[in-house]
Amino acid sequence: MLSYQHAYHAGNFADVHKHLTVFAVIEHLLRKESAITYIDTHAGRGLYQLAAEESTRLQEHLGGIEPLWQARSQFRNPLLTAWLSALEGLQASNAKAPLSLYPGSPWWLGQRLREQDRLHLFELHPGEHEYLSAQILPANTRRHYADGLAGLTRLLPVVTPRLCVLLDPSYERKSEYQEVAQAVTQLMHKARHAVVLIWYPLLPAGHFQGLLEALRASQVRKIWRSELRLRDPSQETHGMYGSGMLVINPPWGMQERLEGAMAELAPLLGEQCRHAADWWVQE
Ligand code: SAM
Repeated sequence: MLSYQHAYHAGNFADVHKHLTVFAVIEHLLRKESAITYIDTHAGRGLYQLAAEESTRLQEHLGGIEPLWQARSQFRNPLLTAWLSALEGLQASNAKAPLSLYPGSPWWLGQRLREQDRLHLFELHPGEHEYLSAQILPANTRRHYADGLAGLTRLLPVVTPRLCVLLDPSYERKSEYQEVAQAVTQLMHKARHAVVLIWYPLLPAGHFQGLLEALRASQVRKIWRSELRLRDPSQETHGMYGSGMLVINPPWGMQERLEGAMAELAPLLGEQCRHAADWWVQE
């Protein structure tokens, strides 16, 4: 039974980290004409009203997108500025109004979809899938009410020369860390050049280490790791202290741009907030 609903967390610091990374990857992929298939294995509902009951309950966006939105005219980093302008384009006409809508990964993946590209979205929660079905997305988008990891395997090989996959489970079950590692290992076996983004939570129990170690033990190469840590983990006993992203086969030059953007935004997310990046597995 699925209980996680992303609406309670939409626009939090982890979404900022994940969606800015997705945006940076796409910007680089679009430098070439050849067609791309995007697959979002855990799509969520696609668009979040920040004034809705779910979002106002925990108000996590106040520690995520909101301070960046307030400071948007002061940023100098071009990637960060471009990302925030894309977000601005989604809001109601009055640019001075407070942020009311925050988009999920289906929108970030779809916002620059070209005629030659395709987007596949998987969502298994019936309510979330119903919301997702109601979203306006480009015509070359397919929404699947199905398991994302099994669906990913079924879609291979894709018909386009390039493939970009986002895996963003809720990790409600501990076994999901291993399931993700397994699915990614199979995927890379069949599509060696795929660009793959995997999100994971930094939690004191450290289960994410199982995912990292399983990937390091696999044949998969060129895994870049980016972590945005809100607090020092040694003082943490519960709660998510950071957000992690792995990017397999990152487009050349993307990492430096993303690191610049993260360095500029981190101080707005808290005094102790730091971004760190390295190659988890080299070429
Ligand atoms: N990727 C979304 C975003 O960035 O806006 C957020 C996704 S949320 C963290 C995880 C979603 O995966 C939830 O909506 C949940 O219902 C869905 N889900 C859970 N298990 C799934 C599965 N096996 N296949 C597809 N979706 C699943």
